[in-house]
Amino acid sequence: MLIFEHSREGRQATAQAPKTSYIPTIPKELQRTTKLGLPEVSELGVVRHYTRLSQKNFSIDTHFYPLGSCTMKYNPRVCNSLAMNDGFLSLHPLADKSLSQGILSCMYDLQEILQDVTGMCAVTLSPMAGAQGEFSGIAMIKKYHEERKDFERNEIICPDAAHGTNPATAIMCGYKVKEIRTNRDGNINIHDLIPLLGPQTAGIMLTNPSTLGVFEPNIKEIADLVHEAGGLLYYDGANLNAILGKVRPGDMDFDVIHMNLHKTFSTPHGGGGPGSGAIGVGRRLVPYMPVPYVSKNEEGFYYVDESQAEKTIGRLSAFAGNIGVNLRAYIYTLLLGKQGMPRIAEFATLNANYLMKELERVGFQLAFPSRRASHEFIVTLKKQAKDLDLTATDVAKTLLDYGMHAPTVYFPLLVAECMLIEPTETESKQTIDKFVVAMADILKQAHTNIEAIKQAPHSAPNRRLDDAKAVKQPNLVFNG
Ligand SMILES: *Cc1c(COP(=O)(O)O)cnc(C)c1O
Repeated sequence: MLIFEHSREGRQATAQAPKTSYIPTIPKELQRTTKLGLPEVSELGVVRHYTRLSQKNFSIDTHFYPLGSCTMKYNPRVCNSLAMNDGFLSLHPLADKSLSQGILSCMYDLQEILQDVTGMCAVTLSPMAGAQGEFSGIAMIKKYHEERKDFERNEIICPDAAHGTNPATAIMCGYKVKEIRTNRDGNINIHDLIPLLGPQTAGIMLTNPSTLGVFEPNIKEIADLVHEAGGLLYYDGANLNAILGKVRPGDMDFDVIHMNLHKTFSTPHGGGGPGSGAIGVGRRLVPYMPVPYVSKNEEGFYYVDESQAEKTIGRLSAFAGNIGVNLRAYIYTLLLGKQGMPRIAEFATLNANYLMKELERVGFQLAFPSRRASHEFIVTLKKQAKDLDLTATDVAKTLLDYGMHAPTVYFPLLVAECMLIEPTETESKQTIDKFVVAMADILKQAHTNIEAIKQAPHSAPNRRLDDAKAVKQPNLVFNG
């Protein structure tokens, strides 16, 4: 039902009405003469309407949400309430630095904390999404080669399992993408890498743990080979929870990393934003960092701009990135402290490995059965799809009836009928066990009543949609 259908003439939400004393200050000729056409609903009516709508959504506040890879991990309320402090909210981004020492010191500290946890030489917080962090990272790699008059390098190597933003980024920066296949165990094949390397290699983009949910064991060898060939190494660190406080991309000799602060460091990002794709750089790329970033001298903190960073690749946003997201990340890192970081990695991997083994026990097939899970892992329904006509979509839709969000399905594309599952570091054993029971139940039901599964979800406000049609011909008209 639309809010307009609740409307009754003369009804009002008085607490929300503007104070009439403000109105005379608007010049007469600018005042409306016709009615605004807003719904006329009581305050309670408004509250109930929107609360009811919000309850139709799946949300991490109400349901288990084991979406692999792009998962919202932990978003403590306190991070949000502190970031919403009036002092932060009312500060203009162009306010003089003498008025902005508080926020500048927070951002400086966050840069230092991220630098420390990644082992990189410097960090900047201005990219506003993972993809923008990637774009700036590859733009820096490009500038590095150009500054060295090394114009021949026109290829970026990406594993076939990479997140789609990786090859897209390389193309947007004017590179050709060379795809490297992962082997049966989900690793990069060194033998396949060697012939791809040469004077045309600008760099390689790696995700570790990879989007196949496994740790890449040959990083050192890959780093040495790529550096020997004159290329640089990019680390897609969108999801850092499996390695936090355990190993550092800087120590693995990566030249640049982006981190999705909105995934690993506490900002909820359902629905596509807002984000922060902070980047850390190694010594080779420090001069090219995008501006502004925060530095300090005897007079205090200040933003470094183009005048102090001549070789910068430039600006990525009007101001200094998504301050609100960066603030939440800052508060979260302070809550965790140095001791808290490795606990994130321990629980993220413990939960994922426990869930992986449990699902295997109840009859699901793992895509990489010989491997340990990272913060996530992949189940393949190839066999069930063939024998029972039970697809990943069917399981995803049926899980909704169990009050659980679906895992990521059909990504990475390499694995047939794939479910990429991440329980995250903050779910209890009881919740994870409930998920196992639901999954086992669905598998059992597939043997006896596949027709019902094919019709799922049965309990959601919308039943099964034709997802191809929903994209091509979305029906956005309200029809009761
Ligand atoms: C989410 C994600 C990205 C892209 O980040 P956005 O903020 O959505 O642009 C890149 N790589 C990996 C592995 C991701 O999970």
